[in-house]
Amino acid sequence: MTPGYRHTVLVVEDEGPIRQLLVATLAAEGFLVQEAGSATEGIAIAATRRIDLFLVDLGLPDLDGQVLIRRLRASSQRPILVLSARSNETDKVAALDAGADDYLVKPFSIPELHARLRAALRRTTRNDAGLQQLRIGDVLVDLDAMTVMRADVPVRLTATQWRLLAVLAKSANRVVTSQALLREVWGPHQVEQGHYLRIYMRQLRQRLEADATQPRYLLTEPGLGYRLVIDA
Ligand code: CA
Repeated sequence: MTPGYRHTVLVVEDEGPIRQLLVATLAAEGFLVQEAGSATEGIAIAATRRIDLFLVDLGLPDLDGQVLIRRLRASSQRPILVLSARSNETDKVAALDAGADDYLVKPFSIPELHARLRAALRRTTRNDAGLQQLRIGDVLVDLDAMTVMRADVPVRLTATQWRLLAVLAKSANRVVTSQALLREVWGPHQVEQGHYLRIYMRQLRQRLEADATQPRYLLTEPGLGYRLVIDA
């Protein structure tokens, strides 16, 4: 990104006062903002403008939120943050599996919103540049060379541990659902085998985290899945 580049956020929210609040706070943070009061309007704007990040309400009058996420995801790889009054895990998993990057439950704080936006944009900026190396505390992971170094000492990972780390790294700073991880690492017939994930996540933490019992990078998102947090 060039210095002074201003990211464009598309806000899709049918409740006027909330939409206005989001538009005002995003503009105050230096974002360019497009706004839509319905899913149809949002899809139309996304088709004609370059959007860097989508902020979408799940409860829209004209289209189901999951359908909107799929439509946006079909034509854009930019981050999609979901806002919703629904806090149950089924809805969150469905939104994430439809292609959303992150999920904020209403009411949320403005600082939290900005933190999530920054994390999502950092991820795409890195992915645009081709994420080859990532730093997890004092561990350096080279995804191309498939090496892990901790203070110049190689750390060995098994093939399965590598696949799991690679899938998490591809979506760094995003929640990846347990189902998606199982499907990508172990295959479509293993999506019920949640215990595989718990075992291998524990192994990865033991190799990569300073303290595997207090993970700072390989985080569990209860009821949803896991998130690899990488340093800015
Ligand atoms: Ca709504």
